[in-house]
Amino acid sequence: MRIIDILIVGGGAAGMLAAVAARDRARKLRIPDKDFSIVILERNRLPGEKIRISGGGRCNVTHAAEPDELLAKGFLRKGEQRFLRHALHAFGSDDLLAMLERQGVRCEARPDGKVFPVAGLSASDVVRAFERILEECSVRLEYGCMVSSVERTENAFAVRTDDRTFRASVLILATGGVSYPSTGSRGDGLFFARRLGHSVVRASPALAPVLTMDTPPSELAGVSLRSAAFIASSGGKQTSRRGDVLFTHRGLSGPAVLSLSREVAELFGTQGNCLLFADLFADLDQDALQETLLAETRRSGAKMVRKFLQHCPDGPPAALIPFIMRHAGIPADVQLSGLERGKRISLLQTLKRFPLGSVKSVPLEKGEVSAGGVSLGEVNPKTMQSLIVPGLFFAGELLDYAGEIGGFNLQAAFSTGWLAGREASGEGGDRRRESGDRRNEF
Ligand SMILES: Cc1cc2nc3c(=O)[nH]c(=O)nc-3n(C[C@H](O)[C@H](O)[C@H](O)COP(=O)(O)OP(=O)(O)OC[C@H]3O[C@@H](n4cnc5c(N)ncnc54)[C@H](O)[C@@H]3O)c2cc1C
Repeated sequence: MRIIDILIVGGGAAGMLAAVAARDRARKLRIPDKDFSIVILERNRLPGEKIRISGGGRCNVTHAAEPDELLAKGFLRKGEQRFLRHALHAFGSDDLLAMLERQGVRCEARPDGKVFPVAGLSASDVVRAFERILEECSVRLEYGCMVSSVERTENAFAVRTDDRTFRASVLILATGGVSYPSTGSRGDGLFFARRLGHSVVRASPALAPVLTMDTPPSELAGVSLRSAAFIASSGGKQTSRRGDVLFTHRGLSGPAVLSLSREVAELFGTQGNCLLFADLFADLDQDALQETLLAETRRSGAKMVRKFLQHCPDGPPAALIPFIMRHAGIPADVQLSGLERGKRISLLQTLKRFPLGSVKSVPLEKGEVSAGGVSLGEVNPKTMQSLIVPGLFFAGELLDYAGEIGGFNLQAAFSTGWLAGREASGEGGDRRRESGDRRNEF
């Protein structure tokens, strides 16, 4: 049986880019394609299933920014930023966009920096572009090929499916995270990594909706709080995120909720409970908000309190006003001039800390990504190679990072995939040269 030079498990964003970069490097090393085999094993019948469903089928393929800005905007934790720096410098969003453009998939940045394929093109076009690139790179794709075990033997990796064994001198694990398991990403790579001696940080939800104990009233489902501050509080700890919050039938979603969900899940996990609030006037502190209310009372004291709230610029949505009034204990027909001091304070406190409920769960499987994964401390960030098992590389979401919404997660998968493939190819080429270019049989 011939030994495969570079074997990649997982044909998602990271695995595909690893294969492309491996070929690119091998060609630069002047190794003929026929003498350097690159194989992807993918359990699905097609590659890139998560790309296909990303951005609601539109694919927010990356974020328009220089690597350091990408890190600052997209990766909240310092350790994750440090780890990803080399990969984003090795293959940034410009490199990705140039690669797609060469395949006829032109993309454009929105004012907020999110990059999507231009109108008329979709996530499927992005996947098809990668399929063409893989073909140009003479990468062998083995579909419907679910890896069940990975073992390090004396001078190769033995990678098994139900009915076949692949042997490879260099192995790249790119099996993704654990969310949306129907896409094929179920955490298998984390199991393999652990078996090979790596520590794995337990998978936890990120970019996920938050389910609440008491579901929101049905009249609020679909209502958005624009540019609120979403606050999670538990055991004396508090964390918040600014952005839109959406009421759903089962709890909360929207950009601010998704963004904070990783921290909500952590708070909930450690404290056993977590209360949620919205600051409905996040641009004003309570004193400034009181001043606005008092100024309006002096100007038009006969105005109903609810009308004042309704007409406030950047104020709460109309559907929420009855709930605010009820929570503050203010009858619906009270005028501004009739608002006594105690009620005024109660209203201000409600507006600055409107209760959104208590967390029931943050469903791991419903996250756009999962946090946790192969411990970053055991992987060389300059190469993506394992510091424990020589010849083993990691790429993509199975690593212990989780980015923000906005194209950061796909870019991180593409970048770590590229770096892993490039370095694995150098490693594979070197190993071949060291062994006198012999192709061993096992
Ligand atoms: C609904 C949704 C929308 C998203 N939208 C965006 C977006 O717009 N922008 C953005 O940046 N990010 C988005 N993301 C996140 C992004 O898609 C992922 O972070 C990224 O695809 C991860 O790439 P990956 O290659 O590391 O893993 P994956 O894409 O998960 O690929 C892993 C591959 O490995 C295969 N595999 C797993 N185990 C085995 C095995 N045992 N044997 C063989 N094959 C195996 C899987 O089938 C899969 O194809 C979204 C995610 C979801 C779920």
